[in-house]
Amino acid sequence: MGAGPIAPRPRRISQGGSAAPQCSHYVLDMRIKFLYNWAHAAPLLETAMPYPDIVHTPAYKQAFDLYLRKGVPIELSLRAALQEHPTTHYIWRTRGDNKVRAAHAANNGRIFSWDIPPPTKHPGEDFGCRCWAEPYQPKLEEADFQSVLSPINDQPRWGWYEFFKHYFGENGEPVTLPQIGHLQVIIDYVASTIYKRVRAQIVNKARSVISGTITDDFNNSYSFHGVSWAHGGSTLSGDIHGGVARQGQFLIISVTVVYNFSDVFTIIKNEPGTPYPITGWWKTRIEIIANRDESASRYKNTEAEADYGIDEQQPL
Ligand SMILES: [Zn+2]
Repeated sequence: MGAGPIAPRPRRISQGGSAAPQCSHYVLDMRIKFLYNWAHAAPLLETAMPYPDIVHTPAYKQAFDLYLRKGVPIELSLRAALQEHPTTHYIWRTRGDNKVRAAHAANNGRIFSWDIPPPTKHPGEDFGCRCWAEPYQPKLEEADFQSVLSPINDQPRWGWYEFFKHYFGENGEPVTLPQIGHLQVIIDYVASTIYKRVRAQIVNKARSVISGTITDDFNNSYSFHGVSWAHGGSTLSGDIHGGVARQGQFLIISVTVVYNFSDVFTIIKNEPGTPYPITGWWKTRIEIIANRDESASRYKNTEAEADYGIDEQQPL
């Protein structure tokens, strides 16, 4: 059912049932954890990433703005910002005497980001303030996060009736995932299964590059029966582009991935209907902080070999 002309790899039965979507709290927690780690990775901008994907730090946005308005080269602005504040965060320190105002005494010992001033403003900024900022360099932790960059405009979701009608009654015109309302579920399924494999490939590549541009691709057949019986041995390919920089023992990776899905809906050979292609694409950004040393990392090379095929025998 739905198996295309693409020769599918032999598949193992695993992870039967439908793909378990991650609950939104989990995703939010991961996002917060990632941003926390990412903020700490910002000093790596000093190494001037050779590509424009890291655009989401305030320092970068500010530098980009200066470039647009005054033509100041982005790298120069970033270096200046780093010279002004050698770390992304600081520890608020007061003089510790009885002249310190209460709001500033309350900040003593707390950690703040240079990008997000506290209500009191940064130390020394308010009139007569004698407080000072002690540079704070937090430790990095491994983390990864994938976010979807392209729009998802799913039409109402096709069920078995629409798939059959298109096969037998209509001319079997090619359809896209948004047209059949399956783009979101396919993206979710890939995120909860095949993503690990893509992530491992990116980390492997980053470990060989260490600092510079990452360009890579993949192309494999997977079973998508877990999403819908209408999808068979579908092909998922992808183009990876971005970069990696090194900070101590860690690799700071940011890439975009353009995923391409393709399948052909067929029923049984010689059945009087018209097989039709089902295609779709989406683009994500993947950000990873990974230990360079695989043995000390939770990101293992072997994940790249994992098989995420699922139960072929989904009942109609
Ligand atoms: Zn003060």
